[in-house]
Amino acid sequence: MTDSILSVRNLRVVIPHRHGKLVAIDNISFHIQRGEIIGFVGESGAGKSMTGAAIIGLIDPPGYIERGEIWLDNLRIDQSVRGDAILIRGKRISMIFQDPLTSLNPLRTIGDQLMETILTHLPLSAEAARKKAIAGLEEVDIDPSRFGAYPHEFSGGMRQRVVIALALCAEPELIIADEPTTALDVSVQAQVLDLLKRLCRERGASVMLITHDMGVIAETTDRVAVLYAGRLAEIGPTQTLLSNPKHPYTRGLIASTPSVESGDIGTHLFQIRGTMPRLDALPPGCRFHPRCEQIMARCRSEQPEVAENGAACFLYEDD
Ligand code: SF4
Repeated sequence: MTDSILSVRNLRVVIPHRHGKLVAIDNISFHIQRGEIIGFVGESGAGKSMTGAAIIGLIDPPGYIERGEIWLDNLRIDQSVRGDAILIRGKRISMIFQDPLTSLNPLRTIGDQLMETILTHLPLSAEAARKKAIAGLEEVDIDPSRFGAYPHEFSGGMRQRVVIALALCAEPELIIADEPTTALDVSVQAQVLDLLKRLCRERGASVMLITHDMGVIAETTDRVAVLYAGRLAEIGPTQTLLSNPKHPYTRGLIASTPSVESGDIGTHLFQIRGTMPRLDALPPGCRFHPRCEQIMARCRSEQPEVAENGAACFLYEDD
């Protein structure tokens, strides 16, 4: 992993509102290396899905990118016109959503849907596309005899495997997976994540894995970005960040995750006091300050930026 497939620089996404603009993403910068699996974690409303939507050009109107740049390799994609955006989506970047039923057309067989995606993005004959579609199903452990089956004929876990086959069939360089296992039973979550991880590793594809689950982050990712109220709170290698979290919010998220090994089952878990602020009621200064147990005077008025150590917090300014 030596170079970046994606660079996001000073991204700001706003939503027009009757009293002005709501800032959903505020000055976020990060990169994704080729072949890397990077997790984006945080509570609901932190901006994880909005960041993924900005990358793939699917921000719901009236929201829009007000500032910043998004580069896919050496192509700037935040300014893509419609035709370019369609070519980039599905071909170079693909997306896996939480609920496979929203990604699959209930009126068409999964074979048809795979072939359509392949023929849209790859210069193949119909016969070659059919062979590739069948190979894609086999890769996700679905028997090719199901090529002509409809989405409702599959279980939830199998449908999500079909969606993974769809996401991979045009050989994308980056996959954005937005809570890909949240709608599945716990018993099949690990299978689906293992499959996604293995296939992406084999193909050298990068993955941006959006989740609220620290356990999924620990099991699956190389690096992790922690978002809070539309800003980056902390970013770094997964093992480093989990073993030595710096930002008080990251520490709170980890402390509130149950662990069988540490004997948390049956005991009271840590809770971060308060709730994530609404976009129309963001506090001044550090957005985490109303919930922070290490708050200092300046935190109420000054906004910390991500420092060399990966954390956006004044506690480490002298490091
Ligand atoms: Fe807490 Fe201040 Fe750090 Fe924000 S900057 S996380 S309020 S110590």
